[in-house]
Amino acid sequence: RFPIRKGDGLEVIDAWRVEHSHHKSPTKGGIRYSEMVNEDEVMALAALMTYKCAIVNVPFGGAKGGIKINPKSYTVAELENITRRYTVELVKKNFIGPGIDVPAPDYGSGEREMSWIADTYQTMNPGQLDALGCVTGKPIALHGIAGRREATGRGVAIAVRECVSVAEDMKALGLTPGLAGKRVIVQGLGNVGYHSAKFLAEFGAIIVGLCEFEGAIYNEKGLDIDEVFNHRKASGSILGFKGAQKEFKKSLEGLEQPCDILVPAALENQITEENVVRIHAKIIAEGANGPTTPGAEEMFVKQGGIIIPDMYCNAGGVTVSYFEWVQNRLGFKWTRDRVNRRSDRIIKTAFENVYKTSQEFNVTMRIAAYMVAIDKVAQTYKYRGGY
Ligand code: NAD
Repeated sequence: RFPIRKGDGLEVIDAWRVEHSHHKSPTKGGIRYSEMVNEDEVMALAALMTYKCAIVNVPFGGAKGGIKINPKSYTVAELENITRRYTVELVKKNFIGPGIDVPAPDYGSGEREMSWIADTYQTMNPGQLDALGCVTGKPIALHGIAGRREATGRGVAIAVRECVSVAEDMKALGLTPGLAGKRVIVQGLGNVGYHSAKFLAEFGAIIVGLCEFEGAIYNEKGLDIDEVFNHRKASGSILGFKGAQKEFKKSLEGLEQPCDILVPAALENQITEENVVRIHAKIIAEGANGPTTPGAEEMFVKQGGIIIPDMYCNAGGVTVSYFEWVQNRLGFKWTRDRVNRRSDRIIKTAFENVYKTSQEFNVTMRIAAYMVAIDKVAQTYKYRGGY
């Protein structure tokens, strides 16, 4: 908890950083800026990071951060003040550093916040050569890496592409193999949602629905993601877009429209036992962390659906963050091509490992993902002489 000056008074900000597992160092995980964030949520997300890193073989333990604010209620100067003070608290507590704990963007934060963190850390650690490796998701001008901005969404699209390429699974769902012509609804037009939609469209899918917090739009013939994005930027709302056939003031209704694939890419607990029965999609690709409740997952799988779990569906971000951290330590830049090629291969391999385990043990892909990830973490503990 730390105070900041707001208007004529002071406000005390609640914030957290959680390190879940030190089986590998540094620990790694994003910082969420949201008024809904709480300690339990940050702890759960830190644990998910441990397993996500294990699944894609990046050598980090899991961590997560949260700052309990609605960024829209603060000026840019106040946000900078909050972010820098948060970083100072992390430095004081030895909770940040290229070899200690390396934050990244998450819901409500992006390149701008990562720059403030990097600058504050570097100022407090003058002369440290790899200081900028204290945080990833930085802009390219501040030693960020080409491809990090779109990495999570690109990974989501690759994970979906791999999933729909399995002919027998698609036959069981009544779908043809391949992404061409598959109808997709995306929830959240932020970093993950926007880029997921962009790459899925590039790979041949049709984006039929887009949902934001103020409402949702639908067109069975397809929506142009950039046109929708620009319309929302100019008007402040996704509603009123000329290319939409239907619009819904209640955003969640957007998830219940006809489609083959649903990509929740906003927040957790969006698909629940209450609304899962109305979901048309046969595949849910979890761009967000924890968007499907356990009860809803059970019902969806019983209905015959497939869930591509968050643990590797959105692991493209941490994979490219790992490249950024390596690049910051080595002091040279990788090309976008090299970054994409390597991260695509990693996501593809993660899918193959998880899919093989799910077939072998006849379990869902989420259980299979946990089996693969927990085994890797346990192996590391074992060889370190731990548990
Ligand atoms: P973001 O802040 O860039 O975007 C989130 C978007 O969701 C915003 O446009 C917001 O308006 C929208 N939104 C909020 N409430 C909504 C609602 N009720 N219905 C529809 N839309 C709503 O955040 P992000 O970085 O894209 O993160 C989204 C999710 O992806 C989070 O769960 C995050 O943990 C997860 N994730 C992010 C990354 C990353 O690299 N940024 C990596 C892995 C996982």
